Amino acid sequence: MSRIYEITERVATYAPNSDIDLINRAYVFAAHSHAGQMRNSGEAYITHPLAVADILASLGMDTSTIVTGLLHDTVEDTSVTLADVEQHFGADVAGLVDGVTKIGQIHFSSKEQKQAENFRKMILATAKDLRVLIVKLADRLHNMRTLGFMSEHKRRVIGEETLEIYAPLAHRLGIHWIKQEMEDLVFSYLETDAYKSLLFEMQDRLEGLNQTRERLESVIQQALLRQGLKAQVQGRMKHLYSIHEKMQRKHVDFEEIFDLLAFRVIVEDMTTCYQALGVVHSLYRPVPGRFKDYIAIPKPNGYQSLHTVVIGPENFRIEVQIRTEAMHVYAEDGVAAHWAYKEGENSQEQDSFKWLKQLTDVLKDADNPGELLEDVRLDLFVREVYVFSRDGDIYSLPRGARPLDFAYAVHTDIGQHCVGVRINGEVSDFSVRLRNGDQIEVMTSPDQTPSRQWLQYVKTPRAKQSIRQWFRRQERDSSIRMGEKILCESVGVKDVGLDVLKKCECADLDELKVRLGRGDIGIHKLFAAMPQQRLMPLKLTGMKRTYMHAAECCHPIPGDGVVGQLNASEGMVLHHSKCNAMNDGNKQDWIEVDWQAKPGQLFKTGIEIRSQNKRGSLANVTRTIADAGSSIEDLKLNQRGGSVTELLFLVEVEDRVHLARVLRAIKGVDGVVKVSRRNRVGLSGKPETRALGETLRDFFAGRKASKESK
Ligand code: MN
Repeated sequence: MSRIYEITERVATYAPNSDIDLINRAYVFAAHSHAGQMRNSGEAYITHPLAVADILASLGMDTSTIVTGLLHDTVEDTSVTLADVEQHFGADVAGLVDGVTKIGQIHFSSKEQKQAENFRKMILATAKDLRVLIVKLADRLHNMRTLGFMSEHKRRVIGEETLEIYAPLAHRLGIHWIKQEMEDLVFSYLETDAYKSLLFEMQDRLEGLNQTRERLESVIQQALLRQGLKAQVQGRMKHLYSIHEKMQRKHVDFEEIFDLLAFRVIVEDMTTCYQALGVVHSLYRPVPGRFKDYIAIPKPNGYQSLHTVVIGPENFRIEVQIRTEAMHVYAEDGVAAHWAYKEGENSQEQDSFKWLKQLTDVLKDADNPGELLEDVRLDLFVREVYVFSRDGDIYSLPRGARPLDFAYAVHTDIGQHCVGVRINGEVSDFSVRLRNGDQIEVMTSPDQTPSRQWLQYVKTPRAKQSIRQWFRRQERDSSIRMGEKILCESVGVKDVGLDVLKKCECADLDELKVRLGRGDIGIHKLFAAMPQQRLMPLKLTGMKRTYMHAAECCHPIPGDGVVGQLNASEGMVLHHSKCNAMNDGNKQDWIEVDWQAKPGQLFKTGIEIRSQNKRGSLANVTRTIADAGSSIEDLKLNQRGGSVTELLFLVEVEDRVHLARVLRAIKGVDGVVKVSRRNRVGLSGKPETRALGETLRDFFAGRKASKESK
């Protein structure tokens, strides 16, 4: 049982200037408030707050937190109010007690949804002050230690909640020993049989293991000393739950677990860590792939160490952790280590709490608790994901990064030519979010180039910039080609004199071509600079479709008079020479083009048909269009009242001659009153789903009718 003087003595040791009197007063206050209350164990209730305060003192927490430990159940379980606490112990303590009380009122249900929501509330409530969470962990730890006095049902509920919520929280806060003790306690209460038999088997081998441990401690110690390295070497048994978990995970028996021992080597400074690693590796053969450098890349919870697994005597696999004293304190107590009376040097502490603030923001926005819980379980509080290349190199990417981010992180060329990825050996698509520990293999092809859609699937600035840059280069290339064509065909020259370049304010011919191709320099400006020239139409045959396309406002087709308008992102946009768009903008900069279709190349245009409402008439029209060698891209129906329906089609044709043939054929369809080309067909966007659905219903009804009539 913890005693108050033991606690105050301890606090006085690590924090000589703390307010011991306040702690004593809190003890008296709590003992008085809980007077007459009993724990399930039959002990006086005050033993519980005392034990909690004791745990907090062992973490080196500040006075307010210790006081909170003593008072944490007063508001919840006695007649004491928060105002009383504030009056006697100040606002800081009252705030903490309030936080702990609030968490105590959250009851987790086994239903995932509810659990996540409550979990979120809990984090939000405590994010304001991490000390609340640490008190809650201490509270839960002591309750777990005394769980045996609870009913079977309560044991299960509290045990599961501890395993699901509190042990992971302790882990994420880096308070390793609390996590381990909680897990072992849950294991002993919830899987008593498995626990007992494991314990039994352990005891059987305990003597042997202890001898091995002692021998190895001294072997490692001596080897380090021979190299002039001062170190503390501590061997320990793995905790029971982790052994149990491993047996479950690997489906093996206890005899088959060879890594029951773990060693810690604590050295003076970081350089020595790496030297000590070398010594350990020269003593025992390292297991390939098991070395992890958490000094260079700390774990998200701030943990630092070198980890390695070596094969020791009798084929024992031995885990060795190498770290400095400071890293060791942090590894044991986690964020609590930062708290412990370090006022004045707290800048690092601010950093280690940043993730909590970020998490709070994420949680506020989350609207799918189930998904959230999934995230929380796996990557709770993580700002970054660490993934491996096929060769085992570690890459750190922001949380939410996807495969293309990884590909671009490896090398821009790898990203640019990425055709697919394998994650942990399985083919995966670009939309997947990477998880810690994923191993990623990028597949590339020299023919692959980025697509604009990729921008939706990248998170890192590096990938975004690389993709955008690629498109800018593409635009520049196509602008140069376009500018070249304009010079050659419209102007009829291959080169221009320096005077022309100067008048156009271009440094060289390439710049002139680019700016001409982009439409930055209007054709009239170039002509003003070289007055002896005569404008000729630009031939559009043999041009890639990516460099030019027909405007969707007027849908010109070969045979129409067309003019070209230039801009950097789209290349040349062709408009019908009678298009309304011709009225605005600087008309004299539009380039006259000579437009011929290549055989087999099709262009969209609009057709308007008025037809009497007859069964099957839509089907007849569509069949006629198909028979005339055209294809329908889109269609829309407008009821014009009475017995006439207006049909709007977006069709593809080769040129005007072809279109005329299509129109003539439609005119011959029974029921068609009028047919004409319609440029502003209003079909360029997607039709409304409902309208299209109705259209299709009519269409099928019509087709069915026409079949029946045969
Ligand atoms: Mn309590």
